[in-house]
Amino acid sequence: MSTSPRGAADQPRANLLTTMDRPDPATADLTLVGSELDVPLVTGARCRYVNLDYAASAPCLASVKRAVDALLPWYASVHRGTGYKSQLATEAYEGARAAVRSFVGGRSSDTVVFTRNTTDAINLLAAALPPDAEVLAFASEHHANLLPWRRHRITYLPVPASPAEALERLDRALVAGSGEPRLVAVTGASNVTGEIWPYPQIARLAHEHEARVLLDAAQLAPHHPVDMTSEDIDYLAISGHKLYAPFGAGALVGRPDWLAAREPFLAGGGAVRYVAVDEVLWAELPDRQEAGSPNVLGAVALGVACRTLQAADMHQRAATEADLLDLARTGLAAIPGIEQYRLWSQDHPRVPVLPFALRTVAYAQLAAVLSAEYGIGVRHGCFCAHPLMVALLHISPAHYARLYRDLSRGHPTQVPGAVRASIGLGTTSADITHLIDALDAIATAGPRWSYRSSPDGTDCWPDPDPRPRPALPLDLA
Ligand code: PMP
Repeated sequence: MSTSPRGAADQPRANLLTTMDRPDPATADLTLVGSELDVPLVTGARCRYVNLDYAASAPCLASVKRAVDALLPWYASVHRGTGYKSQLATEAYEGARAAVRSFVGGRSSDTVVFTRNTTDAINLLAAALPPDAEVLAFASEHHANLLPWRRHRITYLPVPASPAEALERLDRALVAGSGEPRLVAVTGASNVTGEIWPYPQIARLAHEHEARVLLDAAQLAPHHPVDMTSEDIDYLAISGHKLYAPFGAGALVGRPDWLAAREPFLAGGGAVRYVAVDEVLWAELPDRQEAGSPNVLGAVALGVACRTLQAADMHQRAATEADLLDLARTGLAAIPGIEQYRLWSQDHPRVPVLPFALRTVAYAQLAAVLSAEYGIGVRHGCFCAHPLMVALLHISPAHYARLYRDLSRGHPTQVPGAVRASIGLGTTSADITHLIDALDAIATAGPRWSYRSSPDGTDCWPDPDPRPRPALPLDLA
């Protein structure tokens, strides 16, 4: 039994992050691990890998790798260990908590709970909502910010045709809604279109109606400064693997009261102060919501990534990435048969995410050709945002109902989708030019190899695929 599980961890103390890896703003090292990889093509040639899939998962920052490498020999379980290594690991873990809070502009009263990712963070908040809570969310959300709310009274607002319509619809729903407690769950930036939602205005509106706001910052935070305090965001969720720290940690940051009031999302060791077979005293936050042995290396990786990005000046990064996105959008607009998707006006601010399709080549094959013949990594499909894709692709209600019927009965059917290119720290204008040239060549001459598609059209592979795999010392065969 422990009466003060974290004890000194909440006290200010020297932490490993401070001494180990706090970058100097002038020299923030934004190098990425694996940025100069060569990959084989189906033709037998090799080329530099052009990663345009940052929105799915970003490569590791060199600063993060250095921190993880440095911590590994000192890795030990955190919090209750009296061993020197355990104490050092605890300091690093708690330092990471402070780094995350600072990166997102969290209030000193906010709790920072380490989770696996954004999905886990939002599910945690959903489990902690007061039982009579009502949730409002737009249908355009990523499934991670759409599905967890189904356990509550949820109002899904239709995909809005403009930011003004989003605010109007939300205002009307808030006026029509009944009482408290209420939560508006909104994305910072769409993972499909990149469009930045008017989340500060949404927060203001929510608060006028005494509702709270959760910001799904999975796509926003890697590209755009966020300040929970000045923007009055109640809760925020992020994923380390989208923030250049792919070690399995994310975070939920926000107001402690709801998270402290209910039984923990996960019950188990570390989340308690006292247990008898018929009685339990749950711990204070954040331990209360971090049952089980935490992902120390993941949390430290996330903390170091936050420090590195914060030092790098997110405003400057956003401007650079906006220029690269403009280059890509202009280039794609000149290719016959390419359609780019967006919800809102052409000049609406966005993070560097670009969805498109080519009329003459099915989406999954287009993604396969870009990889197999041009060494370009993109994503294809519906991007875990089905209702949004229905709106973007103008899929009729009858078509969508037919799709549901066919899928639920296991009948063969073609699933619609698109391709998404996304930009990040390592992207150069040469990468964008390579994408434009590749799409231009595919649009003009078609694929130069043969391909095989899955019956539902969601996957496609070169057939044959002669590309060798590198010999990695994984010993997993
Ligand atoms: N929200 C958004 C906007 C996302 O893009 C994603 C990931 N694609 C998620 C939530 C879920 O993130 P994770 O898979 O890391 O839980």
